[in-house]
Amino acid sequence: MRTNYKRILLKLSGESLMGSQGYGIDPQRVKDYAEEIRDIARSGIEIAIVIGGGNIFRGLAGAARGVDRVKGDQMGMLATVINSLALASALETAGQPAQVFTAVNMFPIGEYYSKWRAIDAMKQGKIAIISCGTGSPYFTTDTGSALHGIEVEADVMLKGTRVDGIYTADPEKDPSATKFDEISYDEILARGLKVMDLTATVMCKENHLPIIVFDMDTRGNLTRVMAGENIGTLVY
Ligand code: UDP
Repeated sequence: MRTNYKRILLKLSGESLMGSQGYGIDPQRVKDYAEEIRDIARSGIEIAIVIGGGNIFRGLAGAARGVDRVKGDQMGMLATVINSLALASALETAGQPAQVFTAVNMFPIGEYYSKWRAIDAMKQGKIAIISCGTGSPYFTTDTGSALHGIEVEADVMLKGTRVDGIYTADPEKDPSATKFDEISYDEILARGLKVMDLTATVMCKENHLPIIVFDMDTRGNLTRVMAGENIGTLVY
């Protein structure tokens, strides 16, 4: 595969792991992801992954039901650890070494994250799965993925979603919405598009980390994006 990228940060939402189930982890979906990610890794690309936790718990939703916000966010961060362990296990089963890092120290469940430990793991041919987002409450895993992508000096952040890119409005609600092939960070901010939270978008802008938003649920799409096919939306 020809690609300009040497090191990528892949962001997967927690919801994408639940497949067609309404909750939790769909083993088939995780297996599909693992095999596709393994094939990219085998072509020599270094991969760091950040996974969300929305398929299990979100701090904001908990707070709406009376859970203390900080404790709820900690529950959400633990959900990202569960997802990360599931993906690491599926990768190992698929023959691809992987290592789980945690942005909150909880050894031996994962190794305490640092930029250098994650880069070392990638250099050894392992996929670095960085869990717990930023490690602090009031953030999201999109911001965690922007932060870690910048820290590990990824060439691009690939945001795998259910939708095939960024639209003028939510295409699931507004059928007249049109898709952008590319869009600047400033235009996302000016139009108030809910691609990622503001903090994540601003971090990528200030640190010049390009983002590609694409549909990760169609098998083969990650490979297509890596090969430079214009199937999603590039944010620059
Ligand atoms: N979370 C947090 N700090 C972070 C990242 C995540 O507190 O840096 C918590 C927060 O409660 C969030 C939950 O973990 O709702 C799951 O993450 P997120 O909502 O980003 O998951 P996704 O929507 O990608 O599945």
